[in-house]
Amino acid sequence: MRRLLLGSDPRLPRMLGYWAATCLLYIIGGILLLLSVRAGAADQRSALIVVAMGSAGVTAFALLVRASAALGIAPSTLAIWQAMYAMAINVGAYVVTGPLRGVYLIFLLVVMVFCAFSLRPRHTMLLCTYALGMLGATMLWLVATYPATYPAYVEGVHFASAACALVSVTLLTGEMSKLRLRLKRQKEDLVAAMTTIGKLATLDELTSLANRRHMNELLVAQERRLEPAGEPTCIALIDLDFFKSVNDRYGHAAGDAVLRRFSEAARSELRAQDVLARWGGEEFLLLLAGTPLAQAVTVVERMAARVAAAPVTVAGSDVHITFSAGLAERRHGEPFADTITRADKALYSAKSNGRNQIGVG
Ligand code: GH3
Ligand code: MG
Ligand code: MG
Repeated sequence: MRRLLLGSDPRLPRMLGYWAATCLLYIIGGILLLLSVRAGAADQRSALIVVAMGSAGVTAFALLVRASAALGIAPSTLAIWQAMYAMAINVGAYVVTGPLRGVYLIFLLVVMVFCAFSLRPRHTMLLCTYALGMLGATMLWLVATYPATYPAYVEGVHFASAACALVSVTLLTGEMSKLRLRLKRQKEDLVAAMTTIGKLATLDELTSLANRRHMNELLVAQERRLEPAGEPTCIALIDLDFFKSVNDRYGHAAGDAVLRRFSEAARSELRAQDVLARWGGEEFLLLLAGTPLAQAVTVVERMAARVAAAPVTVAGSDVHITFSAGLAERRHGEPFADTITRADKALYSAKSNGRNQIGVG
């Protein structure tokens, strides 16, 4: 029922809230008009026409607000339509109310204040011009047609006070809109900054892989997740072979380029659930969740083939790189720290056995 009334657009409840507030104002305005009729100050037929038009407008706008997303009408456009309609009804009420008509000038102001929440300064300015233009033309017509009921000096004073108030409110709403825009921009900047901070806290700057801190967090989370499930999970510690000699021969910048190339090549062989992190220097830790040992060996072999086929060209010559890996499958209930120790031992054996190979712990 709630979904039917409020839809799925998160802006809709707020728009309907504004609509309900306008609705209340229409009701108050309508009651004042009918009271004027009862007091004999307003013509019944004309008053009923204005009340009927107000009610029809309120109903139509309720439906339009509800269907605005489907019809592709922007909230600000709808707000302008609503404001223009409300102002026209106010001027209509002003014409038919008789001596109490000044009340509707205050309602005009209220409409303007409402716009401060949803419109840009340019639009509030246009609305103010529209309201004053319509009011001025109507008053001139009233003074010219019924001078006894609408004396020129009364209409003049009404118009001057309405103009002062509307222009002041317009200028204030303009300032308010600017403030709102500034707040919105600051909020966007803050969200962007938080995203960057989040990335910096979890990613390694050189390779854009997960950093050691983030991997440790992932391991803790994975440990908790695995406790009851006990699905197979493997850890691989990967260390580039003779990397120091790359630095020594080609320089540190070339070493950095090799680290980046290795990361890209290795990552391209991984599945979405696998996480490769820079564990330190030229050492990497690969977490293979939901993967038994035999499958993990295949994944790392694939990575080795890809890395071997992706040399980095430095000063005209191709720098080929290989790595040694130590693999260990987590035992049931074993802390990851122990699995990593076993993988480290397996890596040590791979290095001692001649490098460019996978050791299993
Ligand atoms: P092994 O096959 O036994 O692993 O030999 P290795 O030369 O790779 O091992 P070693 O641990 O002696 O050298 C690792 C080198 O990695 C030393 C260090 O200067 C270099 N290194 C660590 N971090 C970075 C980095 O961010 N950029 C560059 N260019 N080099 C790095
Ligand atoms: Mg090394
Ligand atoms: Mg090393």
